[in-house]
Amino acid sequence: MKNLYGTQFNISHIEPATHIYGPGRRFGIWLQGCSLACNGCWNKEMWSFKAIELLEREELLKQILAETNINGITILGGEPLQQAENTLWLIQKIKQSTSLTIMLYTGYTKPELQLQKNWDMLETNVDLLVTGRYEEELRNPNNQWFGSENQELIYPTKSRIKQRSKPLNEVEIIIEQTGEVRVLGYPSDLSQC
Ligand code: SF4
Repeated sequence: MKNLYGTQFNISHIEPATHIYGPGRRFGIWLQGCSLACNGCWNKEMWSFKAIELLEREELLKQILAETNINGITILGGEPLQQAENTLWLIQKIKQSTSLTIMLYTGYTKPELQLQKNWDMLETNVDLLVTGRYEEELRNPNNQWFGSENQELIYPTKSRIKQRSKPLNEVEIIIEQTGEVRVLGYPSDLSQC
């Protein structure tokens, strides 16, 4: 899908150091906009395609390269492949110019990615994909890196990520400078946070 905002990403949120979506310390990028409308989606505020924070892709790349103490990047959303041109551009740049591992969450399944003709590029460049819609009736908060049992973790043949998702429940709580509290992960009961 062509990007609505040219070479700019529409960004919902950036977390320069998160430990919850993939192994190690990772630069997390939540892209704004998703039309897949999964029942029970926890990120409904990321459905709208209205511009939230527009950021030139070169600028985002610079921000990632400026982070010296990370193991990789994780792209999620929203639906990263509804900003496919820029997402694929970023993945390629990171793969070509760094040793950072790349993890991508997408609501699309592998057959859908193949139909979109994005699969070959993703399989070549991404280290770990979490694919498929979130299905509330299949929710399991104890799968570490994915939220519902139907979702598939795909480690392409050339993946540099060796660590497998473990049967555990992890939550990361981030207190922003503004005082806003952000809960990342798959909490089983938010009232306990
Ligand atoms: S793909 Fe992700 S962001 Fe989009 S509706 Fe499904 S769970 Fe929500």
